[in-house]
Amino acid sequence: MNKNVIRIFSASLKILLHLVLIVLLTVVTQIGGVIYLITLIVVKKNASRRRLKKGVVFSVLYLSATFLIVPYVAPLFGRERIKETENITAHNFFYKLANRNYVRPELNKALQHIAKDFDRKNNGIQLVYLDANFPFIDKFPLLPHLSHNDGKKIDVSFVYNEQNGALTNKKPSVSGYGVYENPTTREYDQITVCKRKGYWQYDFPKYLTFGKVNKDIEFSIMGTRQLANSIVKQSEIGKLFIEPHLKTRLKLNSGKVRYHGCQAVRHDDHIHFQLK
Ligand SMILES: [Zn+2]
Repeated sequence: MNKNVIRIFSASLKILLHLVLIVLLTVVTQIGGVIYLITLIVVKKNASRRRLKKGVVFSVLYLSATFLIVPYVAPLFGRERIKETENITAHNFFYKLANRNYVRPELNKALQHIAKDFDRKNNGIQLVYLDANFPFIDKFPLLPHLSHNDGKKIDVSFVYNEQNGALTNKKPSVSGYGVYENPTTREYDQITVCKRKGYWQYDFPKYLTFGKVNKDIEFSIMGTRQLANSIVKQSEIGKLFIEPHLKTRLKLNSGKVRYHGCQAVRHDDHIHFQLK
């Protein structure tokens, strides 16, 4: 009797762990949950060294799907992998490994124009992207960004300079998020306003840096301003989000530069923009 209870309990626990893993993989990579499910079916229950076999099968299936299959299937669903050039690059490999680098074809084209325009002014400084969208299904959010669910949205990094003033491709956050360019005492402080209203999530990304690096670089007003202007110049782009104090500091006067609202997260660690 006792043994049976233990057996049922451990079987239920196993199923629960599988479910948690499936949900987690789906939330982070969209296709990972399904691939894990396939792995569970393919690797027989009584197989010897099952855990190792599962790991190998999952890795092979996941990497083949991510790099060999999805890029060719996504266009059938209206999205493309972001085309990387010497001027456009992901902040790190995670964004590509997790299928978070898909956009509509119009946005892919706009990115090329933005990067070229920006490079013309700042030779060798790249357009560095963060989270875009998943390859499939409208309204499937790319967490933690609820709005990145239609192929029209993308986040990009600010531009920084070295101590001597020269622009650099280095960034201060490992993940790309959460290292803030805070308002000075003379600037409007939207962050305090939102937090006072009870929007606790407003500066939550400070927990998502995964470490701070390149501590000697500084936020470049000139470089980030030029990048923002290259973005809003494109006719396909409808809106750009940046924190109000930076909008003022960078003297961005295009009508496309908007405030995202307290229900979002603060945008003084990256720029968000989207198609019309
Ligand atoms: Zn965004």
